[in-house]
Amino acid sequence: KRLVILGGGESGVGTALLGKAKGYEVFVSDKGKIKEKYKDVLLNNEIEFEDEQHTESKILNANIVMKSPGIPDKVALVKQIREAGITVVSEIEFASKFTEATLVAITGSNGKTTTATLTHHLLKQELDVGLAGNIGDSFAKQILDKNHDNYVLEISSFQLDDIIDFKPKIAVLTNITPDHLDRYDYKFENYVASKFRVVENQTEDDYFIYDGDDEVILEYMKSHQIKSKKLPFSLTKVIEQGAYLDNNNNIIITIDNNKIIMPTNNLALEGKHNVKNAMAASTVAHLLKIRKQTIRESLENFQGVEHRLEHVLKINKVQYINDSKATNVNATYFALESMDAPTVWIVGGVDKGNEYRELFPFVNEKVKAIICLGVDNAKLMESFGNMVDVIIETQYMSEAVKIAYKLASAGDNVLLSPACASFDLFENYEDRGRQFKNAVRNL
Ligand code: ADP
Repeated sequence: KRLVILGGGESGVGTALLGKAKGYEVFVSDKGKIKEKYKDVLLNNEIEFEDEQHTESKILNANIVMKSPGIPDKVALVKQIREAGITVVSEIEFASKFTEATLVAITGSNGKTTTATLTHHLLKQELDVGLAGNIGDSFAKQILDKNHDNYVLEISSFQLDDIIDFKPKIAVLTNITPDHLDRYDYKFENYVASKFRVVENQTEDDYFIYDGDDEVILEYMKSHQIKSKKLPFSLTKVIEQGAYLDNNNNIIITIDNNKIIMPTNNLALEGKHNVKNAMAASTVAHLLKIRKQTIRESLENFQGVEHRLEHVLKINKVQYINDSKATNVNATYFALESMDAPTVWIVGGVDKGNEYRELFPFVNEKVKAIICLGVDNAKLMESFGNMVDVIIETQYMSEAVKIAYKLASAGDNVLLSPACASFDLFENYEDRGRQFKNAVRNL
C-alpha cells in the first residue's frame, strides 16, 4: 500500500516512520523546505521524499494520503487528491489505528496546551502516559518508539477535520470561541462542527468532558445527539455528574457515586480559566483512577506552561507576566480578568478581525496604561484611546518593555497579552514571548 505524506514536519516524519514500520511504501512531499534534522531521519530510514515541490505523479498514485494539519483544504493539490477518490487522513487518524492505548483527546479554542500538559502531569504520577498531538514528539513516532499505555493528545480542529474512525476514550472540549475562521469558509458553525468531531465516534462507554458554561457548546448540544457519557464542568452552577466550584472554592467532582473534593486556594495556576482547566484535567484523572491525594498535590506543584501567564521576574516590586500565547481576544480576556493589581498592558500584533468590546470592563477597572506593539496599532488606539490616561505605540519589544518599566509603580503588573497573532514583528508567539523575557531580564 502506498502512503503519501504531505508535509515533512514533526507529524509528517513521525507518520512516515510508523507507516514504513507497518509495511507501507512511503513517500513524503513538502512544498516548502524540509528541515535538515527531518531530512536526516528520512534518509537514515530509507524513506523517499521531495521538498520545494509536489510531483503529482508520485502523489496521485497513493492509496492513502496523510495531510499535515497546516495544509488547507483549498490547496489545488488537496482538491485533486480528493477528486481522485484517495482517502485523506490526519496523523491522529492514521496513528491511532496502531495502538490499543487509552486516548484522552483535548480540543477547544483556548486552553488546549495548558489542559493537556496539566492532564499529563496528573496522570504521569501513576500511569504510563505520553503527551502528543500538537505538542512535543509526534504521536505516530511515540507509538512506534514508546508504545505507552495511555496518551494525552492535544488536538486542533485541523487534525479533527481529517479523522474517520478516531475515537478517544475521553474527549475534552475546553471552550469554543471564533478562531481560524479563514479555514472554515468564515462560517463559525463549520468551526464548531469541526471541534465536535472529537466525539463523533464515541459510544456509551466513552466520556465527554466539556465546559458547561460555554453557550456555544450548550447550544450545539441541544440539537445534536452525543452518545458518550457527559461530564460538564462549571464555575457557576452545581453539576451532578461532572465538576463544579462550590461556594468555598473547592472543586467537587462526581462520577457515578464517587465524589472527590479538591481545594483551589493552593492551585499553582492563576485565573478563572485555569480553574476550568484544572477541573477538566482533574476529571480525566479521576476517571482514570488517579488517587485524590496525587491529584491534589500535582495541581499544586504544576508550574504552568511557558508563554501562558508565565511569571517572568519581579523588579522593584513590579511583576512582569508573559502571556504571549494569547493570540486571540478570549485568551486576553482571561488574562486581564486574572490581574490582581493595576496593570500596564502590552497588546497588539496581527489583528484577526478582533472585537475588543468584551475587554472594556477589565480595561476600565485594572489597566493603567496601554502599550500598543504592532505594525498596525490604529484599531487599538481607537478602541482604547479614551479609556486610559496613557496609550503609547511602538514597534519594538525592547522599547515596549522600557516604557512599561517607566510607567509601572511598586505593586503593579506589566502584562504582555497581545490578543493578536505575532507574525508582523516576530517569527511566532514563542519568539515574541522570549523577546519579552529577554527585554525584562535586561532592564
Ligand atoms: P491553546 O493550546 O488552545 O492555544 P493554551 O493553553 O496554549 O491554549 O493557552 C492559550 C492562551 O489562552 C493563553 O494566553 C492562556 O493563558 C489562555 N487560556 C488558557 N486556558 C484558557 C481557557 N480555558 N479559556 C480561555 N483562555 C485560556
